[in-house]
Amino acid sequence: MVKELTGPEKGPERSFEIVFHNLGLRSWIECSLCSDCPREDAKGCCYYNPTYYPTDFAYLLANAPEALEVIFSMPRITVLEEYMSVDRLEDKDGDFRCQFHSLEGGCRWAPELRESVCRFYVCPGCSIWEEEGIGIWKEFFDRLEAYEMEVNRALSQELKARGLDMKSNPVEYFKQLEVIFKADWSFEPDWCKAYPRKQKFILKRPMRYGKEWKL
Ligand code: SF4
Ligand code: SF4
Repeated sequence: MVKELTGPEKGPERSFEIVFHNLGLRSWIECSLCSDCPREDAKGCCYYNPTYYPTDFAYLLANAPEALEVIFSMPRITVLEEYMSVDRLEDKDGDFRCQFHSLEGGCRWAPELRESVCRFYVCPGCSIWEEEGIGIWKEFFDRLEAYEMEVNRALSQELKARGLDMKSNPVEYFKQLEVIFKADWSFEPDWCKAYPRKQKFILKRPMRYGKEWKL
């Protein structure tokens, strides 16, 4: 870790890498600062309740059904008609910790197995969208967020029209969700293909440590 004093008004600065990965509905943002988060509480922003929607279920059903089983077997979950969340637990520090986060290894999931907030979120402390040349990625992730909402809405409506919801009939809900997704939504939209597949940026930002770091 390199810390460099740049003046009393700015505080120490650090360089880190941001890598944007365009993988259609499984796109994600990688930030090299996260493994040594300035928050210094060994969890950074992972005090969250990951929340899964139909596009997540469809991907996991087809690619990692065992991950879906783990998600639904966690000790505290909330299951609603169209989405479910894995509820964070009280942490030793009096705050909370995501059930998938451990002190030793961080998040237990590979990025493509995470839900969308966990794949897109980078804290305001990193101020990534202010960097020159990154505007194209802001546009990409804004479009992707809107597209994902559209697909989730369409899947939920179709399942509802078939009289299905996750709470009352999960087996049939997942069976038909997989079929509908494969038939109607398992393509990569053309607008997505028009963006680069991957791009790396090196950012340098003033740091604050502990609770001063902006989450
Ligand atoms: S708070 Fe920021 S630096 Fe820390 S883990 Fe979260 S995104 Fe990464
Ligand atoms: S699922 Fe992973 S990335 Fe998301 S809050 Fe939990 S530990 Fe963090």
